[in-house]
Amino acid sequence: MNIELINTGSELMLGRVLNTHQQWICRKLADSGRVVTRQVAVEDEANAIRDAVAEALERADLIITTGGLGPTSDDITRDLVAQLLGLELREDASALANIEGFFRQRGRPMPPSTRIQAMVPEGGDVIHNAHGTAPGLAIPIHPSRAKAASGPQWLVMLPGPPRELRPMFEKQILPFIEKHYPNNESFVSLTLRTTGMGESLVEERIAPELRELLNRGLGIGYCARTGEVDVRLVSKGSDGQKLVQEAALICRKLLAPHVYGEGDELIETELVRELIRQRQSVSVAESCTGGLVGHRITNVPGSSEVFHGGVVAYHNDVKVSTLGVPESVLATEGAVSEACARAMADGVRRLLKSDWAISVTGIAGPGGGSTEKPVGLAYIGVASAKETRAVRVMNPFDRETFKHSTSQQALDLLRRAISAQSSAGNG
Ligand code: ATP
Repeated sequence: MNIELINTGSELMLGRVLNTHQQWICRKLADSGRVVTRQVAVEDEANAIRDAVAEALERADLIITTGGLGPTSDDITRDLVAQLLGLELREDASALANIEGFFRQRGRPMPPSTRIQAMVPEGGDVIHNAHGTAPGLAIPIHPSRAKAASGPQWLVMLPGPPRELRPMFEKQILPFIEKHYPNNESFVSLTLRTTGMGESLVEERIAPELRELLNRGLGIGYCARTGEVDVRLVSKGSDGQKLVQEAALICRKLLAPHVYGEGDELIETELVRELIRQRQSVSVAESCTGGLVGHRITNVPGSSEVFHGGVVAYHNDVKVSTLGVPESVLATEGAVSEACARAMADGVRRLLKSDWAISVTGIAGPGGGSTEKPVGLAYIGVASAKETRAVRVMNPFDRETFKHSTSQQALDLLRRAISAQSSAGNG
């Protein structure tokens, strides 16, 4: 199957917006056993979009465009595609009702310009937009226009904003693709998410043990991000499910305790789930991460059940006055030290009366480092009623990456501490 993706948007070409649709859509399709054969990004300019779509029509079974469905003058994809295919645009009652409902629900008058988003090329299917006003559109390409394709040819247009496109793609477009372009043989894919190990180490540890399964048709891929490595296991055919499950079991065993989840799961989601399961609470004391650990925990729905709160103790005075870090610790060991991390974790656990506490203190840089305490150094503390400990980590990156990595390690440390304590309790 030949799939082509056309991302439209002048902001993409100007470098103002990162083309995340390219990566996200390709990944979703790959997880369903389909690989995008060609992808192009073009500015919001009539000739550029027309040429890209016309070219794709010559080759692809399925063409997906993103962006340009809005109400402003630079949103021209819908009109251009209709023109190119010689289709009239007609107002669709259900699309109009959705737009009207969108504004009614928010108690805002509907700007007349938004009505244009209810225009649908004749014969096109309207794909409901649950998070915005521009519906997605799926246009069947008439066989007389289609390239020498044996099967159906469709052109699917999706809105640009990721929070509109992503749920639409997962809930409606993927099932649409399954229906019109079923896989010849079943395809199984499973992604294991790991943290705290480099890509090559992950591979070194599992590849030899998976060799036999690879010979039997297992596919394996690695995707590294800051502080994380995804291991993607895929297989096809009647044995696919069994092969992937067998491989997952081996990986989980060899990579434990680094595996924290599957698919798109985030470490904070896993952590909150575990805390809820164990009816335990947590609070955080953050210096160099500036509230990021608390932010990530509170991104998870249901976190109010387990998260008591956080203190951003950036200044040393706050570490002392609010968290009760002894002045002697700051004087002898410094704010970036194991002792300070431990005192911060103990302090916030006492203050906010939680079962667990995490603390972070470090040097984000670019200034403030020394030979003894270089930029990138951080200490992460974890406290419970049973014990308080702190670990030293080195994240010599730019400020943003430093904060992300350190928050990731803090969440992971707590995840592991909870799991260790629960297995000790069970054992
Ligand atoms: P709108 O109704 O907001 O105009 P639209 O369907 O016309 O929606 P665009 O105007 O093309 O979409 O894009 C809207 C916003 O969505 C962009 O400003 C950008 O922030 C985001 N966006 C668009 N395309 C992409 C992309 N490929 N990757 C990431 N973000 C994107």
